[in-house]
Amino acid sequence: MFDKILIANRGEIALRILRACKELGISTVAVHSTADADAMHVRLADESVCIGPPPSKDSYLNIPALLAACEITGADAVHPGYGFLSENARFAEILGDHNLHFIGPKAEHIRLMGDKIEAKKTAKRLGIPVVPGSDGAVTPDQDALAIAKEIGFPVLVKAAAGGGGRGMKVAHTEADLQLALTTAANEAKSAFGDASVYLEKYLQKPRHIEIQVLGDGRGGAIHLGERDCSLQRRHQKVWEEGPSPVLDAASRAKIGNTVAKAMQELKYIGVGTVEFLYEDGEFYFIEMNTRIQVEHPVTEMITGIDLVLEQIRIAAGGDLPMTQDAVVINGHSIECRVNAENPVSFRPSPGKIQQYHPPGGLGVRIDSAVYQGYVIPPYYDSLVGKLIVHGKSRVECLMRLRRALDEMVVDGIETTLPLFRALVREPAIIDGDYHIHWLEQYLAGQKTD
Ligand code: ADP
Repeated sequence: MFDKILIANRGEIALRILRACKELGISTVAVHSTADADAMHVRLADESVCIGPPPSKDSYLNIPALLAACEITGADAVHPGYGFLSENARFAEILGDHNLHFIGPKAEHIRLMGDKIEAKKTAKRLGIPVVPGSDGAVTPDQDALAIAKEIGFPVLVKAAAGGGGRGMKVAHTEADLQLALTTAANEAKSAFGDASVYLEKYLQKPRHIEIQVLGDGRGGAIHLGERDCSLQRRHQKVWEEGPSPVLDAASRAKIGNTVAKAMQELKYIGVGTVEFLYEDGEFYFIEMNTRIQVEHPVTEMITGIDLVLEQIRIAAGGDLPMTQDAVVINGHSIECRVNAENPVSFRPSPGKIQQYHPPGGLGVRIDSAVYQGYVIPPYYDSLVGKLIVHGKSRVECLMRLRRALDEMVVDGIETTLPLFRALVREPAIIDGDYHIHWLEQYLAGQKTD
């Protein structure tokens, strides 16, 4: 096992990792920018190192500063969390070159899945169903229109290096295609330094369903069921739940086993998420994330498995915590991502939290690094915290979520709590009858400013 882990992240996920380390008896090193000197993860870690000024590129993305922090503190492993350097294959390699352990998959797998075109080809080869689309990148000398016509409109232009919903443009008709191609390529070039784009059939009313996997790197892999992340705004997840209201045990086992088998073949190590769109009973692979995800607590609540702890144990050479047969899905869980944003305009609302009262009681979990008097800095994402509830059934979960949301107080800044309080009372949400465009359509109907 590792002796000392450096947590190369901030906010709630840094705290989440710190908790797992403490339970494993591993010492922790927090790193922080000058804007985060008062952060909770810094206060609770055994040691902390300031790694630079507020902009992420100078601190949380600053590889030399992180290496120096490892050197100074004698850390033997680095946990990257999510975002920042978590899917940076080069970072994983550099750590290896310095005899430091990257808590994540092999660099080759990060690289493979980071290139969406290669990821899709690999998925197809491994028997995972994919969205119909162009065979690789669409090059300028190719007849994009002919390819699009073959797929059938509407089509989605996607960046090979995409992430966070950027570099994606829909072409509803032939007339939209050229503009969608140029805009997506330009956006991709400026956001990721790579202008390659590919085409995919644009699914009209799919759900986003993702499978959580755990691999031991030696050919063993299990799946831990799914999360339904169909409630999205600008391709960003807002509310996640598991199990999906539309899957039964047989379809869960079928897609889960397909994914687990693919991970066994890859000899994948650690936690990973294989994301699908799901429409008319069919799954279509869109991408794989080779890291712990924001919404991982949903799976933890319904399986009883501590994913971060297992991720660390497996990275240190440990075995899978259980066999596939022993994985039992118990009850239902929902996560709300509470952001420091205006609930109507979604304008960020950083600033000081004057009053803070997290809800509690049976089946209620808060993953957050804020406290009363904490100032949310303007430099990073606007997550205040995740409210996660668990219940024996989806109905119990919704009732519990409703009362937990009513109990929660975050004053001094604007948050998206009012949005969740409205959503939990919406008939379509109560019925589980929604798809990836539902929330934007709902918000368009609500807009008053
Ligand atoms: P990113 O890496 O930028 O998050 P993804 O490929 O994971 O991109 O897609 C993000 C979201 O975009 C999906 O959850 C879904 O809402 C939407 N999306 C992606 N591909 C398609 C598609 N072919 N048809 C319709 N919506 C899509």
